[in-house]
Amino acid sequence: MSKLVTVNTVSQLAFLPNVFPVNCYLVEEQDGLTLIDTGMSFSAKGILQTAERLGQPITRIVLTHAHLDHVGGLDLLKEALPDVPVYISRRDALLLEGDLSLLPEEPNTPIRGSVPTKVKTRADVLLQDGDHVGSLLAIAVPGHTPGSMAFLDTRNRILIAGDAFQTRGGIAVSGKVKPWFPFPALATWCKTEAIESARKLIELQPALLAVGHGPMLEQPIDAIRRAIMEAEAAPSLVQH
Ligand SMILES: [Zn+2]
Repeated sequence: MSKLVTVNTVSQLAFLPNVFPVNCYLVEEQDGLTLIDTGMSFSAKGILQTAERLGQPITRIVLTHAHLDHVGGLDLLKEALPDVPVYISRRDALLLEGDLSLLPEEPNTPIRGSVPTKVKTRADVLLQDGDHVGSLLAIAVPGHTPGSMAFLDTRNRILIAGDAFQTRGGIAVSGKVKPWFPFPALATWCKTEAIESARKLIELQPALLAVGHGPMLEQPIDAIRRAIMEAEAAPSLVQH
């Protein structure tokens, strides 16, 4: 069960939209499609079929962060597309390898959420803040995981933010629990950093917000501002 919604250069592919919705994105470039996130293992087939339907090859696989519901389809996709390079932040590349240790400068709070233990694929390109991947600008947005990244399509300011926000059950900064869909919040490493990162994303003046869980949101700046205020005011379920 999946649903495809296209806005400009970005197609959102939503899996299981009514139960535990997980989104992947296909971004059109002149040389093909950049896939952002791979869903769960059962998502791989649908992603390949969707690319076929869009009539373009997948030429890059980019990961917003290393939680299992975003990297679960990676091995199957890499098997089908062995020459396509895989991109993830240098920091979350460690999580992808199943390494949960923190770096000395990081807030000392445990990394949460389901981190893969059996994913074999390793990244080909390790991203840093400010890197470009085709038309996408990579922005470090630590909080949900230490190495989470968001991607801004510089042609139209569509922002693909992974789990830095959720829009399922109402917009929220990662770490703020939404009763109807609490999973991303419960999987968040450091809420303080997540709020910092949310502020950083507002400065990019996004025209559309696309996240890992929930529908795309046009003209999202006011909604993001409100979500930040709500996150700041909320008592924290987790330590940070
Ligand atoms: Zn996540």
